[in-house]
Amino acid sequence: MSFALVIGAGPAGLMAAGELARAGSRVVMAEAKPSVGRKFLMAGKSGLNLTKEEDQARFLAAYSGSVAGLVRNAVIAFGPEAVMDWAKDLGQDVFTGSSGRVFPCAMKASPLLRAWLRELVGLGVEIRTRWRWTGFSGGGFQFETPNGPDVLHPAVTVLALGGASWARLGSDGAWAPWLAEAGVALTPFEPANAGVTVRWSEHMARHFGTPVKVALLNAGDTSVRGEFVISARGLEGSAVYAVSKPVREGAALSLDLFPNWTRDVVAARLTRPRGKATVSAFLRKALRLDPARLALLQEFGRPLPEGADLAGLVKHLPVRHDGLRPLDEAISTAGGVSAEALDGFMLRALPGVFVTGEMLDWEAPTGGYLLTGCLATGLAAGREAAVWAR
Ligand SMILES: Cc1cc2nc3c(=O)[nH]c(=O)nc-3n(C[C@H](O)[C@H](O)[C@H](O)COP(=O)(O)OP(=O)(O)OC[C@H]3O[C@@H](n4cnc5c(N)ncnc54)[C@H](O)[C@@H]3O)c2cc1C
Repeated sequence: MSFALVIGAGPAGLMAAGELARAGSRVVMAEAKPSVGRKFLMAGKSGLNLTKEEDQARFLAAYSGSVAGLVRNAVIAFGPEAVMDWAKDLGQDVFTGSSGRVFPCAMKASPLLRAWLRELVGLGVEIRTRWRWTGFSGGGFQFETPNGPDVLHPAVTVLALGGASWARLGSDGAWAPWLAEAGVALTPFEPANAGVTVRWSEHMARHFGTPVKVALLNAGDTSVRGEFVISARGLEGSAVYAVSKPVREGAALSLDLFPNWTRDVVAARLTRPRGKATVSAFLRKALRLDPARLALLQEFGRPLPEGADLAGLVKHLPVRHDGLRPLDEAISTAGGVSAEALDGFMLRALPGVFVTGEMLDWEAPTGGYLLTGCLATGLAAGREAAVWAR
């Protein structure tokens, strides 16, 4: 029986471990944290958006980065339908929300994770928590363990250590220099699905925490209608995350505060006589502008122009910001192990060592694409590793 090592017990690693065990390997999973799947559990706090029911071409187009082709192939083999079946097989019914997003009915990750771990233990997977990989040593994998340092010499290894955001949940990106030293090509980490930093004037403080429910965000070729939140640090939430890639790449960010009205409709409303009303009172009345959107207009648009120019500003309000929030706050990481470093999921520089999940250089918006990508690449890398181990 060959000895397979999986390092990192997030969704990608757990998937790979199951696949290796099913193929007959003796599998040891090493996890640095005292418990497994911490980011998966955190994702469950917002309902655990597992995948998305949509046209396959659109689904696959969500993936970008040098490894996107490999991820797409994995997702073709294990896509939204397979993810839903997988969850159901683990006893977790799922439902599809209005936008096509799929969630477990329990709207959290813990029951799914518990059932998954039961299955893996039943398959003979040995999970060692508080086992932190610290690099290579004499052709083996060196760990800090509760019983002191140890070195493992597996026949095959799957690295599933995650990206480099939310380090407190385990994915700290510490592995990057060790792989680079071993000759593995890496694309620098960058924040993906991140908020933008705004240095607000003091007038904005009372709007912190307020959601803006109907707006259209534009950056480069990307237009996203959705919700975001004004926070003390800037703008956050799904619609902002969805434009964070073009913003990161240098595109200007603007807001359409009235996506349901054309510029002409806005302009016609603004031609009404203002009388003695203040500009704010006039805008509130003429456009039925709520306090949060009015505050954004004042914050980014002052001094406000009049008439048609004001209508133009309402429809295209430039957002002054200081770039994306820091990498550690991002929902996911762009960059990681580059396509040129890989033969399938195996590292060319380290035969017998496979890489999966968010460690790889791909990115995707929120909406279930991330977990589907991690589950699919975990399965595919586990399968390739199992063939190697034979
Ligand atoms: C707040 C939040 C909400 C999210 N919500 C969603 C969502 O609803 N839908 C969605 O699709 N995606 C969501 N995501 C993204 C998704 O959770 C990640 O893309 C996914 O967990 C990545 O899986 P992974 O297995 O590659 O890595 P991870 O889940 O990060 O797992 C990597 C594991 O490796 C371990 N590890 C790291 N270094 C070492 C080491 N040196 N030695 C041993 N172990 C190590 C870590 O402790 C960790 O357990 C969310 C992310 C966040 C932060």
